[in-house]
Amino acid sequence: MDLKARHAPMRCEFLSAMTAVMDSGKFAGGPFVERFEEEFAAYCGTKYAIGVGSGTEALWLTLVAMGIGPGDEVITVPLTFVATIEAILLAGAQPVFVDIDPATYTMNPSAIVKVLTAKTKAILPVHLFGQPADIGRILEIASAHGLSVIEDAAQAHGAEWHGRKAGSLADAGCFSFYPGKNLGGFGESGAITTDDADLAVRLRMLRDHGQSRKNQHDLIGWNSRMDGLQAAVLSIMLRHLDEANRIRKHHARHYQEALAGIGNVILPCESSCSSHAWHIYAPRISERDSLLRDFRKHGIGYGIHYPMPVHHQRAYQSYAGLKGAFPIAEHCADELVSLPSSPELSDAQVDQVIGVVSRWAGKKLKYHATA
Ligand SMILES: *Cc1c(COP(=O)(O)O)cnc(C)c1O
Repeated sequence: MDLKARHAPMRCEFLSAMTAVMDSGKFAGGPFVERFEEEFAAYCGTKYAIGVGSGTEALWLTLVAMGIGPGDEVITVPLTFVATIEAILLAGAQPVFVDIDPATYTMNPSAIVKVLTAKTKAILPVHLFGQPADIGRILEIASAHGLSVIEDAAQAHGAEWHGRKAGSLADAGCFSFYPGKNLGGFGESGAITTDDADLAVRLRMLRDHGQSRKNQHDLIGWNSRMDGLQAAVLSIMLRHLDEANRIRKHHARHYQEALAGIGNVILPCESSCSSHAWHIYAPRISERDSLLRDFRKHGIGYGIHYPMPVHHQRAYQSYAGLKGAFPIAEHCADELVSLPSSPELSDAQVDQVIGVVSRWAGKKLKYHATA
C-alpha cells in the first residue's frame, strides 16, 4: 500500500478542499460533514448516513443506539479486526462467536441457530476483506427471531450483494474511513448508514454528547463528531471509489487466473451473489512462513489478516476456553496471506508478486517430490 502514490493524482483537489475548510472554520461537524453524509447515503442507497469519529465508534454507537447493552448477546465471528468485538464489549453486551465459511471467510449462517438464546439481540456479520456475508440467510434467521442485523462494512465500501450496496443490506451498516480502507481519509473517521429515521436521530445525538439541541442533553452520549477536513477529503475520494474498486477487482482477477492450480495455494472465492470490493486479496497458503521469507527477500509487502482469531488474543483470555471451537476461523488464521492488491499498484508489480509465488510453489513441489 502506497498512500502517497494513491493520493498524488488528486493533490490539487485535496489542497483546494482543505483550504475551503480552513477558510470556513467549520472543523468539527458542520456543512462539509453534512454534504459528505448526503453523498455517502446516496452512494450506499440508504436514507441516512451519520458521520462519526471512527469505524470502531460507528459499531459501538450503533449498538448503544439500538439499546443493546448489559445482559444482551450479539452474534459475530472470531476472525475479524478486534474492533468488532471491542464495540460489543464496550456497549456492555456479550459477543457470541460462530465459525466462518471456508470459501468466503464470512459468517456461516448455519451456525447461528445453535447459539441463539433468550438474550440474543443482534447479529453482527463482518463483510471480511470486502465480500458481503451471506446476508440473505442471516436476515431470514434474524426476522424469524426478532433480532437486529448490523453490517460491519468497514472493509466493504462499494461491495454489492444482489446489486445492492453494502451498508444498505440490514438495519444498519458501519463503515471506517481509516486511511488504508477502500474509502479512506487523512486520519480517523467512520459512518453509519441506515433507513431507520429513529436510529439516525439517536445516532446524531449520541455522537454529539447526547444533545437533541444545543445544551439539551437527552441521552448520555460521547464526542464522536466527524472532522470537516475528513469529510471534505472523503467527498473527493468517494468520487474515485468505483474506479479504485475496479482496479482492485482487476488485480484480484489477475491473481485468480495466474495462481489457479498452484499447489499449496487455495484461492479466495467471490460468491456469485456478490460483487467483492477486494479490500484485501488473501489466498490460503499452507506452510506460509517460507513464502513470507521469499516475500521479504524480494522486498514484497504483505499482510496477515489476522494472525489470531480474537478469542486467542491475550486481552480475551476469558474466551480461551473456546480454543478449538471454531476450527475454520482458526485454520484460516494460520494460512491467510494478504497479497499486494492496492489500486495504485501496476500490472507489472502484481506480476512480480505472482512470479515469487510461482517460483516458491515450484520449489515446494520439487522438495515434496524428493522428500
Ligand atoms: C477497520 C475496521 C474496523 C474499525 O475501524 P476504525 O475506523 O479503525 O475504528 C472495524 N471492523 C473492521 C472489520 C475493520 O476492518
